[in-house]
Amino acid sequence: MIKLDAMENPYTLSESERRHWTDKVASAEINRYPDPQARELKTVLRALMQPPAQAAMLLGNGSDEIIQMLALAAKERIIMAFEPGFAMYRMIAEFAGMKYVGVPLNDDFDIDATGTLEAIEQHQPALIFIAWPNNPTANCFSREAIAQIIAAAPGLVVIDEAYHPFAQDTYLDVLVRHEKLMVMRTVSKMGLAGLRLGVLFGDPLLIGEIDKLRLPYNINVLTQQAATAILQQPQALARQADEIRQQRENLMNELAGFDSLQVYPSQANFILFRVLQGDATAVFGALRQQRVLIKNMSTAGGMLHNCLRVTVGTPQQNRAFLTALRSVLA
Ligand SMILES: *Cc1c(COP(=O)(O)O)cnc(C)c1O
Repeated sequence: MIKLDAMENPYTLSESERRHWTDKVASAEINRYPDPQARELKTVLRALMQPPAQAAMLLGNGSDEIIQMLALAAKERIIMAFEPGFAMYRMIAEFAGMKYVGVPLNDDFDIDATGTLEAIEQHQPALIFIAWPNNPTANCFSREAIAQIIAAAPGLVVIDEAYHPFAQDTYLDVLVRHEKLMVMRTVSKMGLAGLRLGVLFGDPLLIGEIDKLRLPYNINVLTQQAATAILQQPQALARQADEIRQQRENLMNELAGFDSLQVYPSQANFILFRVLQGDATAVFGALRQQRVLIKNMSTAGGMLHNCLRVTVGTPQQNRAFLTALRSVLA
């Protein structure tokens, strides 16, 4: 299978780059508990991500665990996000026993500011998640709408910047202006999805409260060592992100050439498109038969009716996907 379904980075590291981190992992003291504060790793993450000096940091076993800590902190109150959006917000809210409110996006997949402000007024959410860029739609919501949400929110607003390497835009620099604003990042889409490491930046007092819900050894010693070594020399991952952004533009242009598809803009490492003639589920199935696996979003229904999502792969993988798609749509 050519796997283009999960926004994974298709590239690996060179032999010498691998040796650099495997040497560090080889020296890990696995008989000892990990540093519960992961200090060395946090120093490296700060240097890489450049949050404001005043911002505090909390690490999670993937952003998924951070979403869970936030949901537990929101105790018996409402969690709000946008639909279509990242499924984990709703799933984790429900597992944690919170009520979830999904606010529908506009037809162009941007935030409906009026509808959102009404929903905030009505539900008084303790927590609002804004994936920026959004998954599965791949766009960045307008900053104007987000500013209105931040101004109106009675609780925390978390900007989830999982796709930052591909969007290269951020809310980190405005963190200090808004006490209740937090920014979440992850190393998953950078090419380290297997390590499970997410980061939350925010006001030190609020981060301190959420940190009370964190299990002390949530970042294991192998992840701490490997991520520290790899992110100390981030050039290889940055080059890969450059290449993926370039490939995204190529793939976007190719997809735009199909009359039978509607292609949505992308600031991420994946592209959402709609099948205008025929059935997306059939297209998805026919691609899979040709051993190309993408993601069928059509099963979610609603605004994603007849939509498919493809992750940007290597030039070779993208060509194979396009060839298969051409034959399926012919
Ligand atoms: C992929 C993704 C994440 C990453 O989650 P991890 O648990 O860090 O792998 C977070 N948010 C969004 C919107 C995503 O699409």
